[in-house]
Amino acid sequence: MNPFVFQAQAARVIFGEGAGARLGEEAAQLGLSRALVLCTPGQTALAERASQWLGGRAAGVFDGATMHTPVSVTERALKAAQELRADGVVAIGGGSTTGLGKAIALRTDLPQIVLPTTYAGSEMTPILGETRDGVKTTQRSAKVLPEVVIYDVALTLSLPVRLSALSAFNAIAHAVEALYAPDTNPVISLMAEEGVRAIVGALPALAENPHDLSVRSDLLYGAWLCSCCLGATTMGLHHKLCHTLGGLFDLPHAETHTVVLPYVLNFNAPAIPEILVRLGRAMGAGDPVGALIELQRKLRLPMSLRDLGMPKDGVVRAVELAIGNPYKNPREVSAALLTELLERAWAGIDLA
Ligand code: NAD
Repeated sequence: MNPFVFQAQAARVIFGEGAGARLGEEAAQLGLSRALVLCTPGQTALAERASQWLGGRAAGVFDGATMHTPVSVTERALKAAQELRADGVVAIGGGSTTGLGKAIALRTDLPQIVLPTTYAGSEMTPILGETRDGVKTTQRSAKVLPEVVIYDVALTLSLPVRLSALSAFNAIAHAVEALYAPDTNPVISLMAEEGVRAIVGALPALAENPHDLSVRSDLLYGAWLCSCCLGATTMGLHHKLCHTLGGLFDLPHAETHTVVLPYVLNFNAPAIPEILVRLGRAMGAGDPVGALIELQRKLRLPMSLRDLGMPKDGVVRAVELAIGNPYKNPREVSAALLTELLERAWAGIDLA
């Protein structure tokens, strides 16, 4: 058999409709008596609800969470935590709010409870990306892993269809790359396959029934599994490319993942026949690349890097940067092959 290492992550995960109401109980179990609730400026009403769920265990709300976890925002939140004598943080929101909770935990070791409201999946990873003076750096540290994650499907109902679909595609990308990661293992592969199955099975119904609890539950369940995959393995060409493109051309995160994924999967296909079989089984389709494209079309998601605002002559710069930073990928990547891949993704050339 193939040797492998499986590192279990220690978070306690609670799933359920209305599970948010268990926040006070969970805070008590962690020994918290003064939790600081974190949110974005747009989610203050939700943060107030979290404070109510905490009962007497809420110390206050910090509503300044924002994209890319700027260190300046973290410093303001740290000051608030100190002034309020917080003994833990509760992050209620998407990846931006979770990122702020992680940044605080990195510096203070305060315990974290996360209530995710998107499918971005940061809550299950030991990864923290932070921005200082416009430069984003990413690090891995067990210190940033939340202690408790409460997945309350009711909190995801308000996420607009387009954002939901893009966020779900981002999650699928984590599972796809975990299946062929150099440090994958049988447990993660099971989670990846099940995560893709749950998400791809639910996505077609999302547009028609955005408030359907069973559709939303499948998406959230799949997102959790995919985020475990991201936290446990080393990502390959797809994630490196999206990171490069996002940084170079300030492209939106989930949209870039959505456009690039079928092109990278198509590129890697000759090197991963068994993984294509697993993905096909998970998607209920003979051709996983075709199945992804069909979903993109059905959900009216962007299909080209041109649509996202990347300049055509940007391909050369992206290739230079991506090639200069080697990483493991099932198929060897050359400048010529990468140029071809990116030119096709830029123009949205049909892969069928
Ligand atoms: P986000 O957290 O920035 O949220 C986007 C917007 O949607 C915000 O304005 C937010 O207030 C709003 N929103 C969130 N949930 C909502 C809901 N249920 N209803 C209505 N509005 C809602 O976006 P995101 O996609 O969740 O997170 C993206 C960030 O997370 C990126 O910075 C990315 O780099 C990071 N991320 C990190 C990891 C990691 O492992 N460190 C993993 C994935 C993503």
